[in-house]
Amino acid sequence: MARTTKLSLDEWDTLHNNGPWDLKFLYKTKLEASSLMPSSLDRYNDAAQEIQQLLKETNNQNEGFRAYGSAWSLSHIAHQKDRMHFNAHMNTYFSFKNQDLHHLSNYNADDIFMFECGNVIKEISEKLAGHGKSLKSSGASNGQTIAGCISTGVHGSGIKVGSVQDYVVGLNLIIGPNPGDIVYLERHSKPVLNDVFVQKIRSRVIRNDGLFNAALVGLGSFGFIHGVVIESQNLFLLKRYVKSIKKELAIELAESLDFSNFKEIPEEVENGKGRAPYHYKVFINQYQKNDADYIVELMYKKDFKLNYPDPFPVIKKSIYRDLIQLAVS
Ligand SMILES: Cc1cc2nc3c(=O)[nH]c(=O)nc-3n(C[C@H](O)[C@H](O)[C@H](O)COP(=O)(O)OP(=O)(O)OC[C@H]3O[C@@H](n4cnc5c(N)ncnc54)[C@H](O)[C@@H]3O)c2cc1C
Repeated sequence: MARTTKLSLDEWDTLHNNGPWDLKFLYKTKLEASSLMPSSLDRYNDAAQEIQQLLKETNNQNEGFRAYGSAWSLSHIAHQKDRMHFNAHMNTYFSFKNQDLHHLSNYNADDIFMFECGNVIKEISEKLAGHGKSLKSSGASNGQTIAGCISTGVHGSGIKVGSVQDYVVGLNLIIGPNPGDIVYLERHSKPVLNDVFVQKIRSRVIRNDGLFNAALVGLGSFGFIHGVVIESQNLFLLKRYVKSIKKELAIELAESLDFSNFKEIPEEVENGKGRAPYHYKVFINQYQKNDADYIVELMYKKDFKLNYPDPFPVIKKSIYRDLIQLAVS
């Protein structure tokens, strides 16, 4: 059985001490040991039962309950004054085969994964890399949980990728303590997993675009997000360039995001047209006397290969040094 520690507390705070705020009880649930319960599916379903039990206990006391992840949100949004649940120990995951997909699904089974709520971005990236896959985007750092990220709409900086919730394709929610209160929610217009898999996670299926979109960025108020189904992409590399270009051009590129006429990086010109970068950033130094030029940073997506050069010597040198040198020159 999954084990929950229940701590009696007076207060709770975020990692960056935006609080503290009052709290009565803090729950932390750990999955059953894999040596005792070898099947990931069994451990996952067992944890769901445990969460339902905690919801029942909370309901019986007529109190409130809210799940949280790494407590990285720099505000009170994860706080609940009665009972809070720390998810980081609930971190199993599932990959899929064609036979798990809905018959109308257009997804590639190799790209689809379900991560339990407490997986942090760093461990998800490591797990995905083992399958030759990658997240499409993440925040500036990698200690946030997947459930925390989607609940708050965490964004990255890939130009055409959107935020973390934009590549979520299914949600497994625990909305109460009763049978039927575990729901698998996905879009009606873009079904992903079939009912056979949904039965394996002992859930009731709802395919509804409106409900799915409403639940996606729920700030902890749309049930306990137990599992998050994502569409990943192939592992890739980024090649970075820093350049000084005319101010007008830098701004025009930022506004239009049309790089087809940008040919200042010969390596990134294809069939006579500039390639679209994965990331584009403009640095503005308000102290620079001559502001005819701006510094821009561009990153281009490349196919993954194993023998890529060690990025650390470049990162060490580049992050600030080449930007500063360009900016003051
Ligand atoms: C160093 C640092 C860098 C950051 N970089 C970025 C960035 O680049 N881009 C950006 O957009 N943000 C960024 N943020 C903000 C941060 O990523 C978000 O606030 C994110 O929500 C934190 O995830 P978390 O796991 O800590 O969630 P928490 O702060 O613990 O919770 C966030 C919300 O999710 C809800 N929640 C969590 N788990 C569940 C669950 N299982 N079920 C239901 N609800 C749940 C909580 O109730 C709460 O409302 C950064 C923060 C820090 C500290």
